[in-house]
Amino acid sequence: MDDHGTAPEERTEAEWRSVLGEEEYNILRERGTEPSFSGDLLDVEGSGVFRCAGCGTVLFDSERKFDSGSGWPSFYDVAEADNIETEVDERHGMRRIEVRCGTCDGHLGHVFDDGPEPTGKRYCINSVALEFDPETDPLDF
Ligand SMILES: [Zn+2]
Repeated sequence: MDDHGTAPEERTEAEWRSVLGEEEYNILRERGTEPSFSGDLLDVEGSGVFRCAGCGTVLFDSERKFDSGSGWPSFYDVAEADNIETEVDERHGMRRIEVRCGTCDGHLGHVFDDGPEPTGKRYCINSVALEFDPETDPLDF
């Protein structure tokens, strides 16, 4: 994951290209979107946390994951609010709220206001942008 010499927050785009796979680079650095129902983190068994595929920061957890039917991993809240940044995204003729990793600034997905209680939020996140870590207890976050 993080076996490169440069700290994630200081990497140049050329360094990102060398540490990320093609799909990861497209989503995390070029704000791409994986096809719906293509991700391998849609149905994750067991508990754990979801880390940023770019830098390993804990972003989401299995306790707050739900099946939205959208075809992308969905969460009604983040694991640690300080680890996430949001920004208005007006590309593609839509006004959406983009979700980014607060550490490495990688693009993760978008957040919508049609999620379940208690937050009413739906964080719609690319599987490719995340890594599941079953070793870390979600209740620690
Ligand atoms: Zn990151």
